Amino acid sequence: MKTTLIATLTLIMFVSVSCKTEHKNNIDVEKLIQKITIEEKLDFIGGFKSFSIRGYEHLGIPEIRFADGPVGVRGHGASTAYAASISLAASWDKEMAYKVGKAIGAEARAKNIHVMLGPGMNIYRSPLCGRNFEYLGEDPYLAGQIAKEYVIGMQNEGVIATAKHFVANNQEFNRRNCSSDMDERTLHEIYLPAFKTTVQEGKVAAVMTSYNLINGVHASENNYLNNQILKGDWGFDGFIMSDWESTYNGVACAKGGLDLEMPSGKLMNPDILGLAIKNGELNESVIDDKIRRILDLYNRFGFFENPDISIGYELDNKFVRDVALDAARGGIVLLKNNNLLPLNKNEIKTIAIIGPNGNSTISGGGSSIIDPMYPMTLVEAVKKVGGDNIDVVYEKGIYTGLDISEDIFRDFNFYVYNNGQKVKGVNADFYSGIKLEGESIHSQYFEKLNLVKDEMHLNDRLEFDYSTRFTCYYQPEKTGYQSFVVSGDDGYRLLIDGEMVIENWQQQSETAKKYECKLNAGQEYKIEVEYYQDGGEAIIRLSALPITQKTMTDEYIVNAISVAKKADLVIMSVGHNKKTESEGFDRTFEMPYNQSQLISKIAAVNNNVVVVINAGGNVEMESWIQNVKSLLYAWYPGQEGNLAVAEILFGKTNPSGKLPASFETRLEENPTYNSYWDDDEDLKVFYSEGIFMGYRHYDKSDIKPMFPFGYGLSYTTFEYSVAKTDKQEYESSELVKVSVEITNTGSFDGAEVVQLYISDKKSLLPRPVKELKAFDKLHLKQGESKIVEFQLEKEAFSYYNPETHSWELESGVFDILVGSSSVEIRQSVSIVIN
Ligand code: BGC
Repeated sequence: MKTTLIATLTLIMFVSVSCKTEHKNNIDVEKLIQKITIEEKLDFIGGFKSFSIRGYEHLGIPEIRFADGPVGVRGHGASTAYAASISLAASWDKEMAYKVGKAIGAEARAKNIHVMLGPGMNIYRSPLCGRNFEYLGEDPYLAGQIAKEYVIGMQNEGVIATAKHFVANNQEFNRRNCSSDMDERTLHEIYLPAFKTTVQEGKVAAVMTSYNLINGVHASENNYLNNQILKGDWGFDGFIMSDWESTYNGVACAKGGLDLEMPSGKLMNPDILGLAIKNGELNESVIDDKIRRILDLYNRFGFFENPDISIGYELDNKFVRDVALDAARGGIVLLKNNNLLPLNKNEIKTIAIIGPNGNSTISGGGSSIIDPMYPMTLVEAVKKVGGDNIDVVYEKGIYTGLDISEDIFRDFNFYVYNNGQKVKGVNADFYSGIKLEGESIHSQYFEKLNLVKDEMHLNDRLEFDYSTRFTCYYQPEKTGYQSFVVSGDDGYRLLIDGEMVIENWQQQSETAKKYECKLNAGQEYKIEVEYYQDGGEAIIRLSALPITQKTMTDEYIVNAISVAKKADLVIMSVGHNKKTESEGFDRTFEMPYNQSQLISKIAAVNNNVVVVINAGGNVEMESWIQNVKSLLYAWYPGQEGNLAVAEILFGKTNPSGKLPASFETRLEENPTYNSYWDDDEDLKVFYSEGIFMGYRHYDKSDIKPMFPFGYGLSYTTFEYSVAKTDKQEYESSELVKVSVEITNTGSFDGAEVVQLYISDKKSLLPRPVKELKAFDKLHLKQGESKIVEFQLEKEAFSYYNPETHSWELESGVFDILVGSSSVEIRQSVSIVIN
């Protein structure tokens, strides 16, 4: 059986489908703008209710609602939780990216969400970045292709997608204050291209700026990036919004290309911008352009005509759930397999699942967390796929600290005085503004301090931008150690008898902190929690817990070793989680809670260990990898992902993911090692590796990564025929056509990611040894062959010349390398471009 695939065909098909979003009964936006007062205009460009653009009923302008992505619809009840974006990149599957975008768009539409805040597409520079899991890997071409398809899929459902965070938000520490500094070529070759593709080919309708500065200028006011490059050179005709609370100067933002300040018009508002217009510092036409950009989209997406986009829309629940499972299957990467996988059900009686991630649906933390519609743990999934004849036992294996789940806030052991009587509960004094200043504007008693938004939402005024002091008392029965836990979104402080013992006074998604101390029996302690709400969710909780026995740590490992000894096979379910890998901070290279040592201890008593890792990027593996037989990288696979893992373990699904980032053996080998942190605290990080990041670095270095970019194993084997080009010599305007035939030569159906890299033999400026310029994922049955044909345009051979500030093609000889990873080049062919 032989079929020919033309890789660019899919693109043409998707683009033509995207015309679906054109609407006929368009409103005359110019006339409408003339009717809006200047006050209304300036109010309009500041976010509303934290996640909306305000509507003006008298003008026929509907309210437009946002929700966080990029892996599901967040914050509107339970939704389908998809595999993390890094997993979608690991699938190297453009059609899957289209489907995931479409499915999330469909669910958004059913919930009447007009704007989804995704895809996230910042480049993976180092495994330490707390948000790599929300992004699409180290390569600009791969990231651009996946993001583009996702956007087209989503926008075809009539929902606006948002490419975020523009740009160079490649670390999380001090993300509001640090400048990502780099030379012009690096910016254009590594950090901008994915956005460019998404804008120009994906026609993304919204872009979100990043928290950081770029070369000294905040993203939200960066004229060069927003006006010159994005809206100018690339012709972006949608709107640019700020990330939440990432504006610093209203006039600079307005002039620097920002069209919408989120979550509210803190700085782009009638007071500040009105004055600037009066002073002649700002022209009203600049504001009109912002309004025009937003309202033009209401025409493009039909929001004027059909403001409630959920009306009459029926969600295809099966499609959505199937996509979540298929996407998870395609993104999981098999990195090592010493004759252990796939498992034979008939040869296994007992499986021990060990590790802190085995018993929950794992995700990274922050604004992309989805409340999953159908959660399934790895333990449940292995039982389901393994069947009744296999005994599955679970042990956590390691103490992971106090489990701060909502459960611990249910009982409230604090009291207040009511007419001299002790009554369980807490008194609250509310203040306008976030500083607990001035007279209290409202006082209230609550039965417990476990409050989420609506419970504190006293009126429109107190939706955000307020602060509260909660006061109560605590009297322990016994003398001993005690933990106080406070959890909040946004800032909070805990004071005991007037002494501040916890300070976490910052804008953040829900974050918990604990304080441990010794208290005396019968003594009354005054407890105060100070809190402020500045946008987004509003949450504040307090709990007092006795300190758990630390000796438990030994019990965890003793129990784990005991079950490991008895089991035919051990699945180690380890890695990061939402507490250790999240936006707002960076993470460790080592897995938390000494999980590397846990793997080694278990591998010492059982020869059949398969490690399943959840993480957004590489972790330390050198200390244990030789001791285990198999290794599966599951990323954060979403609600259906544990099922996908179990299917791969038992051979029901053949793994086909490939690494979207190079996995170094040691962190020191990463080229950003010396330029990741702001060591000298000058609030600048200079990207000293330049364009030589990821495989572009390892290709020219003597140090090779443990697992290279593009690498991943399969249960079957693929053969590559000789790669052919349609000619040997080309003019620069001509398309270069490359074809190669791939055959599944093994005994499993499977999928191969065919990767095409370009190598410029000689150039004036130094270039990477090779760069990814095309890829395709081929699904091949046993014995099946397919011919894949790639069509390369001039851009594939060009580089950015900072002298001329443009992309240039230098004529000469180029090698076209076709392979199954960045180091396994199976075929190469040389061409000349004149
Ligand atoms: C994140 C954005 C997110 C926004 C709204 C910010 O903290 O950086 O990615 O869309 O919050 O939740």
